[in-house]
Amino acid sequence: MYILAQIHTDLINADQDQNSIESQYYNGIWKKKADDGYWRPEAYWEIPLWMAKVSGILLKNGKSHAKHIVTTDEVTYNKSHGIVMFSVLDSNKHIIKKIINNSPDGAFILGGYIDWSYFDDEYESEAMNLYSRGETIEHWAKRNELKDAPPSYHLFQDEKCIPRLTMSKGCNHMCSFCSIPKGITEIPMSDIMENLTAMCEQLDFELIYIDDKTFGQCRNHRSLEFLGLWIRGMNPAFKGFIVQTTAAMVKKLDLSGLHIFAVEVGVESYNDDILSEYRKPATEHLIKLAAQKLKHEGIKFIPNIIIGMPEETSRTYARTYNFIERYRDDIFSINIYNLAVYDGTELADRVDATEDDKDEMKIKKSFVDEEKHKLDEAFSTMLFSNALTIL
Ligand code: SF4
Repeated sequence: MYILAQIHTDLINADQDQNSIESQYYNGIWKKKADDGYWRPEAYWEIPLWMAKVSGILLKNGKSHAKHIVTTDEVTYNKSHGIVMFSVLDSNKHIIKKIINNSPDGAFILGGYIDWSYFDDEYESEAMNLYSRGETIEHWAKRNELKDAPPSYHLFQDEKCIPRLTMSKGCNHMCSFCSIPKGITEIPMSDIMENLTAMCEQLDFELIYIDDKTFGQCRNHRSLEFLGLWIRGMNPAFKGFIVQTTAAMVKKLDLSGLHIFAVEVGVESYNDDILSEYRKPATEHLIKLAAQKLKHEGIKFIPNIIIGMPEETSRTYARTYNFIERYRDDIFSINIYNLAVYDGTELADRVDATEDDKDEMKIKKSFVDEEKHKLDEAFSTMLFSNALTIL
């Protein structure tokens, strides 16, 4: 028996003030945009893709499995439960570590892309049964002689959500804060169709999120024209795709006929100096052109903004704020992120970062002084308050 375990978002965000402006905003999106198809399951922001993939493999190989949503870090597992699988992120690793330490008679497999030295003690302890850590799903299946299979969403039957579809992996750019691997790998169309078929048969959705980091870089992007029609045949309620890309790509691409509902544009900061410092493939001019083109095409515009880059000043924040104000009638919602310093990025080489600095939930960064931290906080409050009025 395998247990596919997922930490409930309420447990991950237990320290977060539910009345904070950030919580009001993010809770507000799902309430106010529900008629547009913004549906999220209660326990997680989106269906965990790793669970669908592992579930498909276990199903095909006749292995019994179940999902378990973890709502308390006091939970314990023992071998009679079976082998417990977790996908570890920087945001949930402290909870998983505690659960493993609570469960000396448990059996665990950990996947994900974190720095695995965090689990050295558990891995090396003879009392623990941490079978593997950091293994890919493909490697785990091969090691256990399990045949590969399309994803299955049967553990999430009829769940209302925005499913994620990956058509390519990687990105051709190398922005200094980003940890996405360089280069594009195209997902075979047979895999895309298997995934879409499972989504249409097992999930309840009106929108699909295209997981490609910079939509348009992979040559298969035009297949949305056909896929949109095909999905609508299976699910007449389908409204379209949400994609994420750069301002330059919005300008370059022919978006017509691709069934695109909304584009998340990597604006980050509306300041040429900062965009160039971070090697972002965008300029203020391109961002404006992208906003105008999306309006012209009737596609919703969602700017992504990063708070906390060390170069930001009150003047640069004001420029970003003014940009948002200028286009507020055309903005569907704003994705607001705190700067996170990921391992292996150019930014990680440039600043002296701590473990906490990897956490995108935390606005305070160890490498900025108190005055700059107050500025970041003030801008964050202003932007979230404004974003709330835009919804
Ligand atoms: S364009 Fe986006 S995905 Fe690509 S490197 Fe820059 S931030 Fe990362």
